[in-house]
Amino acid sequence: MVQREDARIRLGLPDVGQAELDEIAGVFETGMLTMGPKVADFEGEIARACEVERALAVSSGTAALHVAVLALDLQPGDEVLLPAYTFPATGNVVALAGLRPRLIDVDPETMNLDASRIEVGPRTKAVLAVHLFGRPARLEELPEGLPVLEDAAGALGAERQGRRCGGLGLLGCLSFHPRKIVTTGEGGAVTTNDAAVADAVAAARNHGWRSLVPPDMPAPGLNYRLSDILAAVGLPQIRRLPELLAARTRIADGYTERLRHLPVHLPGADAGDVHGWQAYVIQVDDRDRVLRELRAQGIEAQIGTYALHLLGAYRDQGAFPGASRVFERALALPFHTRLADGDLDRVAGALDKLVSHH
Ligand SMILES: *Cc1c(COP(=O)(O)O)cnc(C)c1O
Repeated sequence: MVQREDARIRLGLPDVGQAELDEIAGVFETGMLTMGPKVADFEGEIARACEVERALAVSSGTAALHVAVLALDLQPGDEVLLPAYTFPATGNVVALAGLRPRLIDVDPETMNLDASRIEVGPRTKAVLAVHLFGRPARLEELPEGLPVLEDAAGALGAERQGRRCGGLGLLGCLSFHPRKIVTTGEGGAVTTNDAAVADAVAAARNHGWRSLVPPDMPAPGLNYRLSDILAAVGLPQIRRLPELLAARTRIADGYTERLRHLPVHLPGADAGDVHGWQAYVIQVDDRDRVLRELRAQGIEAQIGTYALHLLGAYRDQGAFPGASRVFERALALPFHTRLADGDLDRVAGALDKLVSHH
């Protein structure tokens, strides 16, 4: 297919097709539309991909974060530390669980939580660390003795020093939103090696049921179950995770090669890590102008994510210069497995003209 010069370059594009349609047809044949065999198969593949004992599929990444926080069984007013620069769901679930989201500034270089900024107080009970855009966070730098939750929404397949993200803390949370590496449209999962925590999550996603016969509901829960129809969409993708990861790494490398000489900050991972490449997010001066001009040329770029202290829900926690800086400068480039070399050339060419050369 010949790409027209003025064709739009999409920000994201899910890698789904006939294999996913065939799996959905299989669900219709069994008639089991929820909590059936496809969910169980999908959970098995997720557990394998994250190198953990248990994976529990839920209806979104936000639902995964919510039940993971609930599973910690903390007291109202206890503090959970989380990065000031992240998708707001990371903080929202903490607040909605009756806990205090305590923002920690990020390192503009990694865009992840800066552990040197952490102050542990008497009510600090957990850390919710984010592997932002798929870049593994340095979890070994976190204070010892605090349970670690991983927001691995964009880090399926990523590795920190040889170990898979999602299996590094007490709990991991994944998202299968269309802008993530594996998508079910909407969906998510919680991963863990702790059997008691897994049982708590399994109950929390299903109204609080520990058992149906006899009925046993020791605490109230939610309906955060994932439909088998959606699990079916995720199955063929997670089975080819190495291939999807390789394709995304190739696109990321293609951008890095083309943008290396420009006065922009490029993303990468620490030596020895595997980047999950949920997104390719650069940092540029005068970002809003660059974003506007790219869009005017049919190149669907986007901001990175949000600085929570600049949102009404998280005001009055002080200054977070790292998060503010990244929030103003981060620019997500079109990023999906169907991008051709010509698309990368066009994005790089446009950026070359837009960023200032000193
Ligand atoms: C996508 C994402 C979420 C939310 O996932 P949903 O499936 O959209 O609810 C949370 N945190 C991070 C870091 C994300 O990238």
